[in-house]
Amino acid sequence: MKRFYLIVFILIFFSPTLSFQNIRKANWGFFAHQKINRLAVFTLPPEMITFYKHHIQYITENAVNPDRRRYAVDYEAPRHYIDLDVYGDSAVYKMPRSWNDAVEKFTEDTLQAYGIVPWHVHFVTYQLTEAFKNNNAEDILRYSADLGHYIADANVPLHTTKNYNGQLTGQYGIHGFWESRLPELYSNEYDFFIGKAEYVDNTQFAIWNAVKDAHLALDSVFGFEKKLTEKMADDRKYSSELRGNVNVKVYSRDFSKAYHDLLNHQVERRMKNSIKMVGDFWFTAWVNAGQPDLDILIDERAIFSTEEFIPQDKGEELRIHESGVQN
Ligand SMILES: [Zn+2]
Repeated sequence: MKRFYLIVFILIFFSPTLSFQNIRKANWGFFAHQKINRLAVFTLPPEMITFYKHHIQYITENAVNPDRRRYAVDYEAPRHYIDLDVYGDSAVYKMPRSWNDAVEKFTEDTLQAYGIVPWHVHFVTYQLTEAFKNNNAEDILRYSADLGHYIADANVPLHTTKNYNGQLTGQYGIHGFWESRLPELYSNEYDFFIGKAEYVDNTQFAIWNAVKDAHLALDSVFGFEKKLTEKMADDRKYSSELRGNVNVKVYSRDFSKAYHDLLNHQVERRMKNSIKMVGDFWFTAWVNAGQPDLDILIDERAIFSTEEFIPQDKGEELRIHESGVQN
């Protein structure tokens, strides 16, 4: 099994034309999503942590499944974001929290067109709760990994706006800059003391609260980048780095450091909030399912199927340019 993972890892990481590039373009970055799911395991209470630690490799590696799925199936993309600003001013306060109310007000087609992340988090929380009730270890793991991903996406400011990659304001590339480049450069300086998972009375309100906080952070996300761009010309703003065997245009280390300083731990706060929420939601689903005994589900021989992802030929329809630097 270890060898299998090693081969998959090598294929993903070193295939420059397929998986590696796709995953690099993924939300929160490949790296941050995995770190969020992994660290969430350590917030869990004793009744849960043995099972989750036993499967921590699965929970970590599959943190990016929903992004891989985006390249395989049509319905996946809207689950990762919500373009709140298309619904007008103060939409983050006014949007119906329940899916049925939102469908009634805007129609399902409209909601799907502009993203459904908070409602989808609620749905996957329900699926996870059912998996716990059914003592289905494979579903518990699959939905836990998925839920971690969607919760993390909902905490990213640029996942709550139609200007998701700065394409409307001449700030193209800001998406990957904020959620991939900065965590990759600075997360070793983040304080990841998270505390213990806590029960959430209303998960629907909680995820909307996270979306609201993420959305309110957009002013600084865009404002500071603009301020720095006025001071640093392109030759200082960008540089190139070798990724795999390809030279790619990246935000320079100087520009990244200046942005990181101005944001004053914002990325760290959103990442920590993601980790805390993932643990809280796993724990809440387990409590709501009647606190089933997870230790009896641990089976050394269990091999959980890994999802297959067949890329579809619809690249231009996806927001794959979310983290592109070049226009
Ligand atoms: Zn995503």
